[in-house]
Amino acid sequence: MAASLVFRLHDKGPDVVREVLLERGWEEYDEEEREEEDWNLYWRGSMFRNSEYLNLLPWQRLNHHPKTAGITRKDFLARNLKRMRATLGSPLYDFSPTAFILPNDYTRFLSEYNKQRLTKGATVYWICKPVGLSRGRGIFIFEDIKDLVYDCSVIVQRYISNPLLISGYKFDLRIYVCVKTFYPLTVYIHQEGLVRFATEKYNLSSLQNLYAHLTNTSINKFGPFYTTQKERVGQGCKWTMSKFRHFLHCQDVNQNLLWQRINNIVTLTLLTIAPSVPSYPNCVELFGFDILVDVKFKPWLLEVNNSPALTLDCQADITVKKRLIGDLIDLMNYTMVDSLRVKAFQRQAHRKSYHHANYSSDASLPLLPKFKEAEVRRQRKHNQSSQTLPRLKNIRHFEKKSQRQSKQSSQTHFPPVDFSRMTTKTSTNSALNLMLGPHSGTNVSVVNRHTCPALAPWLRVKRSLRESGVTNCDETETEAEAECPAETDVSSTIHDTPEQSLGFRWKLPDINRGSNRLKEISLEENEALNRHVPPPRVGDFIRTFPFNKATLKASQNELDVKVIIQELHKLTGQLAKSERKRKREEENKDGEEDFDSLLWGPKDPPLISQCLKNNK
Ligand code: ADP
Repeated sequence: MAASLVFRLHDKGPDVVREVLLERGWEEYDEEEREEEDWNLYWRGSMFRNSEYLNLLPWQRLNHHPKTAGITRKDFLARNLKRMRATLGSPLYDFSPTAFILPNDYTRFLSEYNKQRLTKGATVYWICKPVGLSRGRGIFIFEDIKDLVYDCSVIVQRYISNPLLISGYKFDLRIYVCVKTFYPLTVYIHQEGLVRFATEKYNLSSLQNLYAHLTNTSINKFGPFYTTQKERVGQGCKWTMSKFRHFLHCQDVNQNLLWQRINNIVTLTLLTIAPSVPSYPNCVELFGFDILVDVKFKPWLLEVNNSPALTLDCQADITVKKRLIGDLIDLMNYTMVDSLRVKAFQRQAHRKSYHHANYSSDASLPLLPKFKEAEVRRQRKHNQSSQTLPRLKNIRHFEKKSQRQSKQSSQTHFPPVDFSRMTTKTSTNSALNLMLGPHSGTNVSVVNRHTCPALAPWLRVKRSLRESGVTNCDETETEAEAECPAETDVSSTIHDTPEQSLGFRWKLPDINRGSNRLKEISLEENEALNRHVPPPRVGDFIRTFPFNKATLKASQNELDVKVIIQELHKLTGQLAKSERKRKREEENKDGEEDFDSLLWGPKDPPLISQCLKNNK
């Protein structure tokens, strides 16, 4: 009988992950019964340590990429987006509200505040959020600077005071984004997501009423109107994205353009850190992007969570999250039989018996070298029981060793994938690039669960790892939160992070690498590129990056951020143009009862409607 796949959950959660995996025949890791390395997937709410990445075995996967704090910490995100705006000057980066990290940026904030006060027009409001907290904790909204009181590092952001409302209720969108690999950047967005409502009607004259201004479930579920049937919104505070799509359908709004703008936000945000994330194909990450849509249907990025809540509070949660986790597992592409892990343990058992019989040194057997390391580590742990984190020296040692090993034996460090399927032909036809948003009725591009080809490039440990600091995880009671006291001042300078104590310095990723010129793609290159096209859809996960040949090529070696931005710009422009065309056609339809006329002037006067058509 084939061995089951094994999952390991940190702190016994989240339940939905356990439930989905058990339903699929996986087994839960039990440290009493299993070897330390005998698992395939390790899931935890908080980030993993550097050493855990460095000691990953070929069959093991983690649910976080290293070094993603650049977008998942409120202050780092604000800083990174500001840098991108300044460097690229692209209007595409105009999707996050102006932000100041206090106390450092206090003077800059003051001058902006005064400028806005003197400007005639609508009143400007601000929102203050502690950088070290999540789930709406410590947040308040203010108009007058005298109400700005803080005793920890905070981010003060322009408050989007004209949100789109549904029957008077504010809402935001929780978009689930899976980064399959950072190298090359491969991004999927789930078709389903959540719409999270405030439970009291929006009202700018009561800024203190958090049930009207914040959309966090963790806050609203304690509100007095949570269980009330609210006009159109219903009971509770959540909708599925499908329900929201239906709402949009009933409005005269260009859904495609809205979804594409959200896609852009996701890609552009990931581009801020993508060049600096070390390559670990054995890792995958599910991010929760929080998007607020304003009355003009402009989407704004509020924050990015590295551990989006997976608790099942209501029917919408159950519908969305169970499917989400199932699709995520499919996207990770575990083959049904995990032969790598099983073989390795058979070899280990063989080695043990050989040792026992011959009293010989372990150098004589062709074993997986990591097992030796693991044993050494275990012994060290016994000897130095007081030491919980490996010393920096040890990290460097393992890092170097890991680099050497990956160079020497890159063939043995493949993640567990079905190589026979690597040659599966996948078209780069743009028609296969499905958009996040409208549910596609066609299944042509749906990749068979369990069989989608893995497309990760093989393990390359290029850059040093750093421990991440305070990040946004809205999972309940996560270790990350426990590690991040609200008092921690992380904003004074970007180097004032826990990383510094490990001797690391936060370095902003270099976004200027790459040629910024898209050369003609030769025939051979074309074929090579085609081989690397990730499946356009896995379950309800839609590939949103790369979305054409140019972006695939721009992400293959050194990430060419400028080319990617050009392509996003082009695509968004095309969608906007097609919307204008659709609207004109609709207007023409509305005017069907009107009569057409000839255009005075030309020798053979054409119909006016014909002239308009030709001008499009
Ligand atoms: P947390 O990590 O504590 O959830 P968020 O940044 O997500 O912090 O903010 C919590 C809630 O506050 C959001 O869900 C949203 O409803 C509201 N909010 C946050 N920032 C803004 C903003 N700039 N404009 C309008 N509403 C905001």
